[in-house]
Amino acid sequence: MLDQDDRLDLMLAGGRVLTLDREGTDLDPGRVGVRGGGIVLVEPDEGPRPKADRLIEAKGQIILPGLVNCHLHAPMTLFRGLADDLPLDDWLSEHIFPAEAKWVDPDMVYWCTLLAAAEGLLSGTTCMADSYFEERAAVRAFQESGLRVVCAQGVIDFPAPGVPDPARNIEVAERFCRETADRGGLITPAIFCHSIDTCSAETLRKARGLADRLGVGLMIHLAETKGEVERCRREHGRSPVAYLDGLGFLQKNVVAVHAVWVDEDDAALLARRGVGVAHCLESNLKLGSGLGPMTMLRAAGLTVGLGTDGPASNNDLDMFGEMRSVALGAKGAARDPTALPAGEVLRMATRDGARVLGLADWIGTIEIGRQADLIVLDADAAHLTPMYDPVSHLVYAADRSDVRHVIVDGRVVVEDRAIKTFDLARVMAEVRRLAARVKTAPDDHAASG
Ligand SMILES: [Zn+2]
Repeated sequence: MLDQDDRLDLMLAGGRVLTLDREGTDLDPGRVGVRGGGIVLVEPDEGPRPKADRLIEAKGQIILPGLVNCHLHAPMTLFRGLADDLPLDDWLSEHIFPAEAKWVDPDMVYWCTLLAAAEGLLSGTTCMADSYFEERAAVRAFQESGLRVVCAQGVIDFPAPGVPDPARNIEVAERFCRETADRGGLITPAIFCHSIDTCSAETLRKARGLADRLGVGLMIHLAETKGEVERCRREHGRSPVAYLDGLGFLQKNVVAVHAVWVDEDDAALLARRGVGVAHCLESNLKLGSGLGPMTMLRAAGLTVGLGTDGPASNNDLDMFGEMRSVALGAKGAARDPTALPAGEVLRMATRDGARVLGLADWIGTIEIGRQADLIVLDADAAHLTPMYDPVSHLVYAADRSDVRHVIVDGRVVVEDRAIKTFDLARVMAEVRRLAARVKTAPDDHAASG
């Protein structure tokens, strides 16, 4: 507990505090005290307030844990809207992979990652899991942004940005993880194996070995399309999940991204191995991959977080939009309006997402001892009036533009809807400069998108 004369670094007070703790504590009005980046006080806003160096008065506002985006490819902001309305395989091989080969370099990754960080922060995301190439430049951008991020260096068996020789992909990932771990701060390194279609069994085994040696997490696009499952059954005689398990790949620190085409046996196996799932519904819908059996996966005991996937297949990084789509999609898929109630979807976007990324001891709820990753929404808006249940509004009615303040690790990163850590206008100008080159390139994909 807080001593009477202990001074806080920051206090948010007067708003409705949804802690999302196990008991679902809802303080109206409540206050949250922060010191040294951590939460040291959560209580009703009654009686004399403790002294704080800085006070955020949140009357008429909702305070909740920051949203956790479990999967994206941040630098792909450059390719937002470049090629839409195409099947996944054509989209990747005819448009995205060639554009990446041509345009991805550390300069592009740095600026386009800052743009993704801005979009995420302004829409209430305080933690992201990014998976891409040239990830060292992404780390630089994320550190400037003030976001909390799991940064995963890509591993793929063909020449990739920053890894012209695929034989060295594990070596590059190892160097990245070691350097990033040494930097500390809010960035956690990890390894991203692109998919079972683009990584050989040998590469997947080596990545598993590297993750074990370094104690880092592994992410992989898994069972995204029906075609992937059919190819895997043809070539390996079993499902993608069973195939990966046979390689020893599946363990507690693995994030299975998508898991759209998994059956009950796959789900049971993933649950036994302690694998977390990143559900990226809007990307799966846009690429026509399917809805995914999220109700079945959760019933099997799996922890499912939400992700936007990259801005080229969504096409935004809006976790409020994602929550709404997930809640509606689950009901439509099950033809059952009781499937995935709003409260469960909000937990998937916060607490469960933190668990999927191995960060549940630090973030995902507003509780004493957790890090102060908090967002404050304006509730005084036409589309949020009246308010019987704030949880319902957050999932079904709120919009990312309702996010007013964002705090990461106790630092106010967004104040009154403005980024405080870097110059967003400059970042947008730099990304437009890069996009102008993509647009005017002679053999370019923009023409066919
Ligand atoms: Zn992805």
